[in-house]
Amino acid sequence: LSKNNITLYNGTALTMNDQNEIIRHAVVEIREGIINSIKSDPNFKPTEFPEAHAIDVRGNLILPGLVNCHTHVPMSLLRGIAEEMPLARWLFEGIFPFEKKWGDQTFVYEGALVSCIEMIRTGTTLFNDMYYFEDRVAQAVQEAGLRAVCGQTLIERDDVFEPAAKLLDEFDQYLDRVKKYDRVTPAIAPHSVYSVSTALFEKLMVYSEKNNLKIHVHLSETQDEVDQCVKKYGATPTEYLDQLGFWGHHVMAAHATCLTDRDIEILGRRKVRISHNPESNLKLGTQICPVVKLKSAGAVVGLGTDGSASNNNLDLFQEADFAAKLQVYREGVGKLKAKDVVRMLTIEGARVLGLDSSTGSLETGKWGDAIVIDINNAHSLPLYDPFAHVVYSATGQDVIHSVVGGTLLMENRVLKTLNEAKILENAVRWSEKIFPGTHYSPHSKY
Ligand SMILES: [Zn+2]
Repeated sequence: LSKNNITLYNGTALTMNDQNEIIRHAVVEIREGIINSIKSDPNFKPTEFPEAHAIDVRGNLILPGLVNCHTHVPMSLLRGIAEEMPLARWLFEGIFPFEKKWGDQTFVYEGALVSCIEMIRTGTTLFNDMYYFEDRVAQAVQEAGLRAVCGQTLIERDDVFEPAAKLLDEFDQYLDRVKKYDRVTPAIAPHSVYSVSTALFEKLMVYSEKNNLKIHVHLSETQDEVDQCVKKYGATPTEYLDQLGFWGHHVMAAHATCLTDRDIEILGRRKVRISHNPESNLKLGTQICPVVKLKSAGAVVGLGTDGSASNNNLDLFQEADFAAKLQVYREGVGKLKAKDVVRMLTIEGARVLGLDSSTGSLETGKWGDAIVIDINNAHSLPLYDPFAHVVYSATGQDVIHSVVGGTLLMENRVLKTLNEAKILENAVRWSEKIFPGTHYSPHSKY
């Protein structure tokens, strides 16, 4: 049996194709990592495909793997260190000093592994990351068997890990280090308009064009950021970046919470890809992204968790629930439907990352990336509307199987690619170093 051959049968598939087609008695046949066929067959017997591992999903839901459009996976090791702070204090007093002190390559790699476990367990198969030493994130992604767009951060501040100008000079080496990872797409990640100069924005646009790289940036996360930008450049962050020609590139912009009507018009007209991160925005006291308005203006909007230090988990099901209800609060009932939120979790997320021709829906010819959600429990049954179920009732803990490229990353809640006990033990070791004696652990030896 090739380890990239698998058949999922006896499930209900939410394909998330253009018609949002639901297939009952679904048989999803993945061969050499690619979806070879998807069909309804109530009489399917696994012996029909002797060449593949076949899993009876027992009437549960089969979905495309979920897409996390904005995160910083090494920050799992900083979960809970800076609580009840507004964004500016959280970042400059709560996070940067710890990252500067502890954020070496091992921190990045071991923190990324903790997040990879959490993402497999909660149904994410593809994520868009932004951090330092991003090649070590890429290494963790490859070992986990997940997929990621790995954005190496450019930031011009001396209270963070590394000076930025040097990083752009060293970007060739970064690309060289990650090209051996077939599950990883490299990207360039200027941190924000308040921590990257105009000169560096101009240089990195030339560089990204030359190397065909996507760009990942934080955009208009707080009103303070907008006010400072207006004071400095006489334009909002969206207008300022428009003047630089930034939106002509494949940009993935995180947050977009504090926008003017003119910003929304620009982002829509330029079809900018946006990650809406509702839990992080609420927790850090910023504003609510105008998702409905951005979508109707023409922008592409997916969902992200942001890092674990401002969420504090990577469960996209919670993100979906928050996103749906926040638009009810903002725009009224029924303006953003559950079906559209499931699209944001899957195919729209893949569009944000520019990978929608390869993933984001269960369709023949796409990567064999799928998850199975258990519905045989008290918070699921009876189940009349599977889209409403995914958004309002399901949690990440309902995910029982995870498949990426036809390889099982988790089967019946058991991880197949990572040594969970060892990785969590390392996480506890980090807390002992960062805050000796003040952390909690289930292991008495700590
Ligand atoms: Zn972020």
